[in-house]
Amino acid sequence: MKLLLLGPPGGGKGTQANCLVNKYSIPQISTGDMLREHLKNKTELGIEAKKFMDSGNLVPDEVILNMMKNRLNDKDCKNGYILDGFPRTLPQAEGLENLLNNLNQNLDAVIVINVDDEVIIERMGGRRIHPASGRTYHVTFKPPKKENKDDLTGEKLIIRTDDQKETVKKRLYIYHKQTKPLINYYQSKKMISFVNGENPIDEVTQNIF
Ligand code: ADP
Ligand code: ADP
Repeated sequence: MKLLLLGPPGGGKGTQANCLVNKYSIPQISTGDMLREHLKNKTELGIEAKKFMDSGNLVPDEVILNMMKNRLNDKDCKNGYILDGFPRTLPQAEGLENLLNNLNQNLDAVIVINVDDEVIIERMGGRRIHPASGRTYHVTFKPPKKENKDDLTGEKLIIRTDDQKETVKKRLYIYHKQTKPLINYYQSKKMISFVNGENPIDEVTQNIF
């Protein structure tokens, strides 16, 4: 199963991808997590990407497509995967189509998680992440078992530097301008479904299933 989760920043893509991973035992491929890993390891790509990420802008398409080309070739992708946060622009969607053609693969479904901007802005203030795994929590809506600690490792949770209010507003602006056109792109291919991402986490998961 090859799924694509599409939605605004903070819409719940990572949270839902995690539920799907547990049910179907296929990997979640999050370009955001991959980029943060590069940042942490101070790779050339990470240093290049940081200025875009910190300011709430998108990392250039070419950089992202090169990174994905390698990832989709990995062994664990053989039985399927969940794309989370990629593609985010029309050139990326076209690039993905080329990559898939070369691999003789097709996407099975595109699921759009709809959430209003106001709800996102409120949500992002409470997001906490476990940087090593990308696991995501929320102080109110998905609190960890122990305050500010990852459930599995007990390690400390952090606030993402790009989750400040002004940066979130910038990311939402970019989402509407550059990513939303992908909805029409996939709608014309008749492979899209919509879920209301403002429902509680478990309900959204059930709807996706
Ligand atoms: P969110 O889950 O809140 O939408 P991500 O973790 O997916 O955020 O992405 C964080 C940042 O990483 C983005 O704001 C952007 O700078 C960069 N990024 C992630 N994926 C992409 C992509 N496919 N294309 C361009 N930039 C990306
Ligand atoms: P994305 O990957 O799309 O940026 P996340 O999965 O990281 O979004 O979710 C953003 C924040 O909102 C996290 O703190 C997460 O725990 C919380 N969250 C996700 N889905 C819901 C929901 N349906 N209701 C309330 N909070 C949610």
